[in-house]
Amino acid sequence: MSTDVPMSDEERLEAAQEAPRPHFEPEVELRVFAGVRSQAPDPVKPVALKPTDKFAFRCHRGVSCWNACCHGADVTLTPYDILRLCSHFGVRPAEFLERYTVPALHDTTDMPVVKLKMGGEDGKGPCSFMVAEGCSVYADRPLTCRYYPLGLVSHKLKDSEKKEDFHFLVNEAHCKGHLESQTQTVEDFRSEQGVAEYEAINRGWVDILMKLASWKSIGGPMGKAASDQARQMFFMVSTDVDRFRRFVFETRFLELYEIAPEAVEQIKTDDEALVRLGFDWLKNVLFNEPTILMRQEVLQTAIAHARAGVGGA
Ligand code: SF4
Ligand code: SF4
Repeated sequence: MSTDVPMSDEERLEAAQEAPRPHFEPEVELRVFAGVRSQAPDPVKPVALKPTDKFAFRCHRGVSCWNACCHGADVTLTPYDILRLCSHFGVRPAEFLERYTVPALHDTTDMPVVKLKMGGEDGKGPCSFMVAEGCSVYADRPLTCRYYPLGLVSHKLKDSEKKEDFHFLVNEAHCKGHLESQTQTVEDFRSEQGVAEYEAINRGWVDILMKLASWKSIGGPMGKAASDQARQMFFMVSTDVDRFRRFVFETRFLELYEIAPEAVEQIKTDDEALVRLGFDWLKNVLFNEPTILMRQEVLQTAIAHARAGVGGA
């Protein structure tokens, strides 16, 4: 499965050097995870919850709605979700994507992502991982499933790098967990659900989505939508670490960028390290952030070409 139009890796690398960059950052709010299952009027409670705020909720096998939320679920997979699920099944991303995902557009940014495939012709059937006992991949379930019934919003002020995260409650009629008497704070729920490990790796991805949401709100860099090249690069890094590894090792990538020899050794086998490098590379080529350095001689050649171009104009 792929959302690509044909383009060689060398062409993609060249295109990355030419990618247009946005020139200012408006205020932006990104609903990172909502986890909404139903088509009913928006069940999101528009109240920002602080880490210490409490909410009533408990999910257990005794609830009458057991597994109801695992039908027709809207689960966008983050890069770390894919790594964890691949490891769970002992498969590589290409096979995992083919078997368990469908291509989709990220709700806020329109960038290509993958979502978990749901059963039924209308996609309202059970998740492929649902069994009578519950979730068969529970230890490696995606972040959206960990968060439910909370959602996460990242908010950034105009021309600021500072972001604030806050949570909100998704209260859908089918979910009887809200009627339980158990209460917990947002931070206790997050800790119980093990979201920190996921967020530590996905943070760079969320940063990129935030900036892409900024692009979208101003009509894209220089007033244009994100290019096909930008979309392809984002999709490659977000979904398939093997494709990105081939991209790094089988193009001139390592000739163009300063990557420490020990880091080069590490990314040959370490998927998490490679995904982090992918986020740094995307931030550099899409937004001109100094997250990865171009080699000095490459930079000087580029400057000389640029000066020659200006002089000859
Ligand atoms: S991954 Fe597990 S928790 Fe998430 S929708 Fe599927 S069965 Fe439910
Ligand atoms: S209580 Fe809510 S989260 Fe738990 S099974 Fe029912 S619908 Fe799903």
